[in-house]
Amino acid sequence: MVKPASRIETIPPYLFARIDKKKEEARKKGIDLIDFGIGDPDIPTPSNIIEKMREVVADPKNHRYPSYEGMFEYRKAVADWYATRFNVELNPADEIVALIGSKEGIAHMPWAYIEPGDTALIPSPGYPVYKITTLLAGGSAYLMPLNEENGFLPKFDAIPASVLEKAKIMFLNYPNNPTGAHADDEFYEQALSVAKKYDILICHDAAYSEIAYDGYKPRSILEFDKEKRYSVEFHSLSKTYCMTGWRIGFVVGNRDAVQNLGKLKTNIDSGVFQAIQYAAIEALNGPQDSVEQMKKVLQKRRDMVVSGLMAAGITVKKPLATFYIWAKVPVGYSSADFCEKLIEEQGIVVTPGSGFGDEGEGYFRISITIGEARIEEAIQRLKSLHF
Ligand SMILES: *Cc1c(COP(=O)(O)O)cnc(C)c1O
Repeated sequence: MVKPASRIETIPPYLFARIDKKKEEARKKGIDLIDFGIGDPDIPTPSNIIEKMREVVADPKNHRYPSYEGMFEYRKAVADWYATRFNVELNPADEIVALIGSKEGIAHMPWAYIEPGDTALIPSPGYPVYKITTLLAGGSAYLMPLNEENGFLPKFDAIPASVLEKAKIMFLNYPNNPTGAHADDEFYEQALSVAKKYDILICHDAAYSEIAYDGYKPRSILEFDKEKRYSVEFHSLSKTYCMTGWRIGFVVGNRDAVQNLGKLKTNIDSGVFQAIQYAAIEALNGPQDSVEQMKKVLQKRRDMVVSGLMAAGITVKKPLATFYIWAKVPVGYSSADFCEKLIEEQGIVVTPGSGFGDEGEGYFRISITIGEARIEEAIQRLKSLHF
């Protein structure tokens, strides 16, 4: 057999493999699994977006190669959405590039900025793409621990100056997957002053900016980085408009950074299907009541799950944003052991926190992407949980 590139070997083993095996075994035994493991909305894409797609998909002019950076109309729609939502002005000509889902842009960012030997600052626990693509690009990942004491926000003064001096990019993600944490204004100011002092590009992943509760309104880092000098922000239509399968997102912010990522992408992909871009314009600039509706549904689920967990004796805090609940594993168990126990004894699937990085050990993540009836059933089952 041909030996694969050594970079393939730098990809760590799939951390949820053990859980997948347990799930398979439970299914074979006929256990009815309630799966809180999947970070993918169960709610369908709003109908105005689907109607737009139906209309534009038939037009042959949308069947050809799209432009690399995204249609001007799409980038204009993003700029309009940003102005309304964050009061931030973006130039559609060079401060916005369409992405094939934000994961695509996030994954390519290290290829535009990281050379072998360079350092990227990465939150742990975190969305696995930040670290893995940094390693694939030959860089080293300096992990910034997110834990309860620091409110699940990196502590910049705990990072050695020698590391900050070498760092080129820093990934941040608020509201946060997997911890459900959010960042306050002071945190963004601090992050930007570190970026300025050490000349670091902040890559802020804002995939959950629209999923927030109890009146909380997440902010854009560009509200603080007014001259767009130190940051780019990644957005996704996946979570806001229940469009995970459609594959569309965007990157905005510092012009050079956006253009460098765009330049890389012209040599890799060929843009986003135009019909999907038109549907995304409808999503961003059309009526937003579906988002309000979805948040109501999710807020109710969040409240149900949090009270159910507390009643079962599990330590958990109510998140103000995202569709994740980050709960503590009972004393005496590892994340993986406790998650296996939940599958075997309760038929309940959750994600072990350790799968998102070492700092996630001691926690598990619940994704509230299943309906109330099943949540209620899981709560009933949890009443017999002993640990
Ligand atoms: C879901 C998710 C994304 C990726 O979304 P796309 O579907 O690729 O747009 C990016 N970051 C985080 C933290 C996510 O949870």
